[in-house]
Amino acid sequence: MNRPSPARDAGVVPVSVQEDRGTPAEPPAAGLVDELVLANHILSRHRVVDAFGHVSVRHDQDPERFLLARNMAPALVAKSDIVEFHLDGTPVNAHGRSIYLERFIHGEIYRAREDVGAVVHSHAPAVVPFGVSRTASLKPVWHMSGFLGLETPVFEIRDAAGDASDLLIRSNELGGALASTLDQACVVLMRGHGATVVGESIRQVVFRAVYTQLNAELQLQALQLGSVDYLTAGEVGATTVSVGSQVDRAWNLWKREVQNADTSNDQ
Ligand code: MN
Repeated sequence: MNRPSPARDAGVVPVSVQEDRGTPAEPPAAGLVDELVLANHILSRHRVVDAFGHVSVRHDQDPERFLLARNMAPALVAKSDIVEFHLDGTPVNAHGRSIYLERFIHGEIYRAREDVGAVVHSHAPAVVPFGVSRTASLKPVWHMSGFLGLETPVFEIRDAAGDASDLLIRSNELGGALASTLDQACVVLMRGHGATVVGESIRQVVFRAVYTQLNAELQLQALQLGSVDYLTAGEVGATTVSVGSQVDRAWNLWKREVQNADTSNDQ
């Protein structure tokens, strides 16, 4: 019998191209696209993303739109690679270029959470064990990641897509299900896949994505030593305020590091 491939059964398209709709909003504020490009490079340098993963920002001139790179490795993103999208994931100015299959993560979270201004989706290796463990859950082990709250929600895609999906968020329906599991949290783990982190701004979401990964590494080490003391609810609240005020300090360092790396690559 000539069996169709599972990929064809699932309607998998290896390269995602979609026709543009509408016209671009007013141009974003000066510096917003530059900051989005930097965020791509910083996340790559900190190994939150590798060839895969993406970061977006809500459009500052139209809250019903967001900016996200075309389909490519974040380390290689330049200003001309940034595409404008409607919240349903339809591009405005992709001009036939391939776009990320999982753009629905971004649009559906912006739709569900008015407070969210930037989103990072990654396959950061350190967090993956906490998405698949049946006993351990990702919790803040130090003051740098109080934003995690007392516990990190885990998205189980089988509940929405059955037990034979490719685990990718390839539709608005799946994006909506992910946003619903995220609820009011800053981070949602995705079982067998990775994580999605949200923030008010590009700088805050990059900070959270980097420290989510570091927390996962430290928590795994601590668990190997035995039972672990996590931050209390009071400590979560207090550290979120105090460390949250230091986001620019990290951003300025990380920005300089990627700029220096770019300069040395040019020589
Ligand atoms: Mn993914």
